[in-house]
Amino acid sequence: MLVVMQAHATEEQVRAVCQKIESLGYRAHSIPGAERTAIGITGNQGEVQAGTLEELAGVQEVIRVTKPYKLVSRDIKEENTVIRFPGTDATIGGAALAVIAGPCAIESREQAFAVAERVHRAGAQFFRGGAYKPRTSPYSFQGLGEEGLGIMAEVRDQFGMRIVTEAIDNESLDLVEEYADVIQIGARNMQNFSLLKRAGRARKPVLLKRGLAATLEEFLMAAEYVMSEGNYNVILCERGVRTFADHTRNTLDLSIVPAVQRLSHLPIVVDPSHGTGKRNKVTPLSRASVAVGADGLIVEVHHLPDKALSDGMQSLYPDQFDELMVQVRQIAPVVGRTVAGIKAAAPVEAVGKR
Ligand code: PEP
Ligand code: MN
Repeated sequence: MLVVMQAHATEEQVRAVCQKIESLGYRAHSIPGAERTAIGITGNQGEVQAGTLEELAGVQEVIRVTKPYKLVSRDIKEENTVIRFPGTDATIGGAALAVIAGPCAIESREQAFAVAERVHRAGAQFFRGGAYKPRTSPYSFQGLGEEGLGIMAEVRDQFGMRIVTEAIDNESLDLVEEYADVIQIGARNMQNFSLLKRAGRARKPVLLKRGLAATLEEFLMAAEYVMSEGNYNVILCERGVRTFADHTRNTLDLSIVPAVQRLSHLPIVVDPSHGTGKRNKVTPLSRASVAVGADGLIVEVHHLPDKALSDGMQSLYPDQFDELMVQVRQIAPVVGRTVAGIKAAAPVEAVGKR
């Protein structure tokens, strides 16, 4: 059920409706929109007695939601969700394309700073890097853990980029929430419902990657899990799905971008690195992602990809990332988007200092 408030409803009236919903034993999610506030009701097994709510001051109407997802849907919020990062002009979901770049894994302070300096200069507003890596083999590099998070925090201090990093379980999520600006939930965990609920109780935005074989509805339902716990800042991420095709690591499903945008107000970014697994395909598919209307890109970059401890084959050289940004800057205006400019190189002696 969805309670649509009148355009001029006061905050007090919204609060009274939320209180009434909670007193009936349900959960109220008040989502303000440009025109009016809508209040989603969750936790109800069957029909909510609409009559009791319709009578309340400021209520325009009570609507039954037939879709399995409620809070992610455009029914509750017509306009796009724009996620803001206090202290910067970076947004995800706004007119400016969100560019997230960095290595697959944080390997050392030197490596992180070498990559960060280059992607920052090229115009990335967000720095990615895993401190906890979900690897197919238990013998592969598992990440630096909290030390890696500390290095990322230093990168933020130095360059001002906001930090995106993955939590793989409830324990790592506690730490990631403390250090990072965006909590990444990886493809393998897209249906780890207890982790999704924990992320829903976090106070940081969540970047949710599409599962390896997830349908659109399963993807949206995973986001609904996060939102149902009260965290409304969710960023969806298409990163390719498993198909019969073996010329790429995964098959990047760009058609999901307009499909998501039709149904949901949440931003969606594309990861052409995991989506293809091959360095030479990352730039072409980044161009396509921007053209199809993605809200941003998440791209793996390494200063020495041949020596990378994970995903070297799909990591761009910094010069290639520069070129990617040049190309993307030309495509973005065609779809009404802007891309942050190139930064002046920092004086050599400043790089690496806090
Ligand atoms: C990653 O971003 O490094 C990663 C492990 O991605 P995914 O969960 O999409 O495989
Ligand atoms: Mn990776």
